[in-house]
Amino acid sequence: MGKGIIKNLTLIKEGICSIIYSKEDECPICKMYSEEGYLCKECISKIRFCKNRYMLNQYNIEFKYYSIAYYTGNIKELILRLKYKSDFHCGEILSSYMTSKIKEENIPCDILTYVPMKRKSLRERGYNQSKCLAKNIGKELNIPIITTLKKTENTKDQIGLNGIERWENIRGAFTAVNHDKFKNKKIILIDDVITTGATAFCCAEELLMAGAKEINILTAAKSNV
Ligand SMILES: [Zn+2]
Repeated sequence: MGKGIIKNLTLIKEGICSIIYSKEDECPICKMYSEEGYLCKECISKIRFCKNRYMLNQYNIEFKYYSIAYYTGNIKELILRLKYKSDFHCGEILSSYMTSKIKEENIPCDILTYVPMKRKSLRERGYNQSKCLAKNIGKELNIPIITTLKKTENTKDQIGLNGIERWENIRGAFTAVNHDKFKNKKIILIDDVITTGATAFCCAEELLMAGAKEINILTAAKSNV
């Protein structure tokens, strides 16, 4: 038995492994085998799924919102990878959960839209993660994605502001655009994470004032607060 045979066997094994465990068939979190690159059972078990529908109430207006899971564990991991590591595969996993939610909950939808980013932040990151999610969902459901909002450039950063200040700061930070494309339409507003709900609420409020018929909010995650 020469060393050559062992070396050849190793090469064959590596070859087989790389075919079976190709990148498409591994869990993006733990890198274990998982069909079609979805999360493995173990990683799914570390997601705290949301079972309820929630309400955002402010200024005598009410919007329903839906989230896939709490912003912790592996949902947080998927979002961080999409946001800061340009891992669009993680984005696809998140949006497939969001697509299922739309179907399960029968959320009315003529068009999809997303929470916009400031031009400066968009330049720095190179993409808007919420738009990425909306695009994937739109493709799966065959629903158009419309840019309906622009973020005003001079809004303060939300970090360091208390609850009330956040609401006041964010109100008026979004301006509706492309009115003719969403007038009288039922819209699903997509965002990555909902925290106080101020951002999503103010976007939805602006759309409602600008002529949308109905707005429901769908986010990948919901913070525990
Ligand atoms: Zn895994």
